[in-house]
Amino acid sequence: GSACHKDDKDRGVNVQVILRCRPFSEDDVRAKTPSVVACNEDKQEVIVTQNMGNKQIDKTFSFDKVFGPSSKQKDLYDQVVGPIVKEALEGYNWTILAYGQTGTGKTYTMEGEGGKAKNGEFHEDIGVIPRAVEQLFDTLEAQNAEYSMKVTYIELYNEEITDLLALDDKSKKPISLMEDGKGAVFMRGLEEELVRSADEIYHILQKGSARKHTAETLINTQSNRSHSLFTITIQIKEHASDGVEVIKCGKLNLVDLAGSENILRSGAREGRAREAGEINKSLLTLGRVISALVDHSGHVPYRDSKLTRLLRDSLGGKTKTCIIATVSPSIHSLEETQNTLDYAYRAKSIKNRPEVNHK
Ligand code: ADP
Repeated sequence: GSACHKDDKDRGVNVQVILRCRPFSEDDVRAKTPSVVACNEDKQEVIVTQNMGNKQIDKTFSFDKVFGPSSKQKDLYDQVVGPIVKEALEGYNWTILAYGQTGTGKTYTMEGEGGKAKNGEFHEDIGVIPRAVEQLFDTLEAQNAEYSMKVTYIELYNEEITDLLALDDKSKKPISLMEDGKGAVFMRGLEEELVRSADEIYHILQKGSARKHTAETLINTQSNRSHSLFTITIQIKEHASDGVEVIKCGKLNLVDLAGSENILRSGAREGRAREAGEINKSLLTLGRVISALVDHSGHVPYRDSKLTRLLRDSLGGKTKTCIIATVSPSIHSLEETQNTLDYAYRAKSIKNRPEVNHK
């Protein structure tokens, strides 16, 4: 009821912003590419160095957490995602967004690589999604809880939503966004897959990735222009002290955004790019929504793109949000790295007003 939430406005929780710098690729190591990014994991700071003539300019950014090039998947998971998954189990909604230039490790961070070995051990390169599913199952099984877990997996490309889990013929129909009476956005015709064990998640991720590939050749484009959203919904049955049954609902939105270099490209050539169908309207609008929230400039253009309609509750709503910004240490990426750091740093001041969900 509204009476018990009257102080919601004052209870804002800031968007959490994490910075991850990838290691150099073997090619970069061979070419002895200079690094322009220094990570201080103790101070949670990143220093970017730019040489202007013979002057060296250092710019320092601080984040909620900083993970340097030698950080492992497990480090990021244990320090950042583990506590988030715990809150999802308590009935909160959480969104994790991977944001950064193509090639800086968004997919590596969110999905990872390697899967599960035959001995049941995780490959150390697996990412946030499979680790989160494993943690959810481990916790729920240990509590002997009565629960159900469902996932959806969609791709958003050129303002069209594709269901990555649907069967082939069904998936030809694009998914449409609808609004319920309360203004909450949902997707019509989306396949929800019931997950019964953590192992099933590899099958689901593979199925989704395979479909992403097909879409890529069909429309002759690259996955760095599309956004993928993996959503896990958990419902846990509980008995309150008076014996009344309550269903606690938690949600995790795990989002791998299009390469951030597409924002500038779209912005600069908006007119022409739109004609060519190239514009990344969603990424551009995400930037505008963040700016409007940061600058408190009244109108927030959530409705201008599908991505921002889907993420509305994560940006100034009741869902808690964590942005993982990814950068490369290379001097060749300097400009993109600066853009990513500026963008991520600004997003720190956005506030959400989280609430626990009951049914
Ligand atoms: P993006 O999704 O941002 O385009 P990817 O996740 O596809 O980037 O990463 C590009 C390549 O770099 C992949 O081959 C990946 O294995 C590697 N890579 C990215 N980040 C890391 C990291 N932190 N540690 C090791 N390898 C990484």
